[in-house]
Amino acid sequence: MHELTLAEIARGLADKSFSSEELTTALLARVKQLDPQINSFISVTEDLALGQARAADARRAAGEGGALLGAPIAHKDLFCTQGVRTSCGSKMLDNFNAPYDATVVAKLAEAGMVTLGKTNMDEFAMGSANESSHYGAVKNPWNLEHVPGGSSGGSAAAVAARLLPATTGTDTGGSIRQPAALTNLTGLKPTYGRVSRWGMIAYASSLDQGGPLARTAEDCALLLQGMAGFDAKDSTSIDEPVPDYSASLNGSLQGLRIGLPKEYFGAGLDPRIAELVQASVKELEKLGAVVKEISLPNMQHAIPAYYVIAPAEASSNLSRFDGVRFGYRCEEPKDLTDLYKRSRGEGFGAEVQRRIMVGTYALSAGYYDAYYVKAQQIRRLIKNDFMAAFEGVDLILGPTTPNPAWKLGAKSSDPVAAYLEDVYTITANLAGLPGLSMPAGFVDGLPVGVQLLAPYFQEGRLLNVAHRYQQVTDWHTRAPNGF
Ligand code: GLN
Repeated sequence: MHELTLAEIARGLADKSFSSEELTTALLARVKQLDPQINSFISVTEDLALGQARAADARRAAGEGGALLGAPIAHKDLFCTQGVRTSCGSKMLDNFNAPYDATVVAKLAEAGMVTLGKTNMDEFAMGSANESSHYGAVKNPWNLEHVPGGSSGGSAAAVAARLLPATTGTDTGGSIRQPAALTNLTGLKPTYGRVSRWGMIAYASSLDQGGPLARTAEDCALLLQGMAGFDAKDSTSIDEPVPDYSASLNGSLQGLRIGLPKEYFGAGLDPRIAELVQASVKELEKLGAVVKEISLPNMQHAIPAYYVIAPAEASSNLSRFDGVRFGYRCEEPKDLTDLYKRSRGEGFGAEVQRRIMVGTYALSAGYYDAYYVKAQQIRRLIKNDFMAAFEGVDLILGPTTPNPAWKLGAKSSDPVAAYLEDVYTITANLAGLPGLSMPAGFVDGLPVGVQLLAPYFQEGRLLNVAHRYQQVTDWHTRAPNGF
């Protein structure tokens, strides 16, 4: 049963080939048996899952339907889940049981999804390797000596290892698309404002966006359908109707204009990845797409701008973790200052502390104009580049990452080397655009992803192109050995 996609599960539950309780029991056993190898779960919520599965079976027996009713899910451990530990991968929140459900969690539960647990992640979603988690590194099922990508590394590794068909993730600078690429999954970062951020523990609020990770575009469409929509509780949520994403999957690609940014194919890109990207372009041309070169001239400034803006917002968001109201508190503080200092010093890991310091520095009175304001100006130029490019093309295509998954530990002593891995993904967050990564081949046995970017609210177009591509290729069907 673990081989089934979300779409196949929906059909199996509808025609009563199996019940949600049977499926849930089988997957929980598989998590127990295999997860110790990859460490993709922080918490397994067995009782919650079995209760939800029985309730879903009862709803179905009473005549209710729906693609997600009784289907399994696990949430990245920064989506607040009522009564369940929501740790954000941090010692700071190791003892935090969320008092309410995030909107995404509530919506999917209402649709009848069964929560198997909470997935491992980089601490406070900061990272590209899932090595900064308080609960230990996640391993890539394709090669247990390699990282799965981050920060939604647990969500990606769990699906890649066939522990369950789909998970939620969040993407601030690539954390859905990059781990999807490194583990052979399809992952979608929606338009900023498409999915509610309410109850999602904030990293960088103007960049964060939740979205689906699954094996196929078809499954991402089903899951996004359940996640998307206006939420009055999130002031940045956008009140736009949610289209039927599954209905858009089969649209013709005849005449679709695809832009290849010339800046994407320069130094720094593994030439073997460049070849696989070109091969994916050939497939799309066979399906009727027309390809042309475009330019995104300000792309070279994206990493420095992002690594000012994201830490600046993080330093502000993380100021609430002060040892007073919730989260970790140090032993026997001498006075209030000691309480703050030691609670934060002991509760946050090294990468989080580094970002708080960078962000606080960039926002301080003497440097605000030189760093933060400058970075915001670059952000606008990057958005303008995309707007100009989308005048002439319907879609932008390129690699998701410059390299395949690296070895555990290979970049942990050099944060800048890890930041450079985000070069293709962070521009979409800076501009607020939707982006998708899909499997496009292998290098040394490790998966490679191709990234598609579309104009605002064109998630349907991304899913359509990825689905048509997946009908003529089989990269996305390959499973790692041993899983
Ligand atoms: N790697 C990027 C960072 O560390 C992106 C992380 C994310 O998208 N959450 O900030």
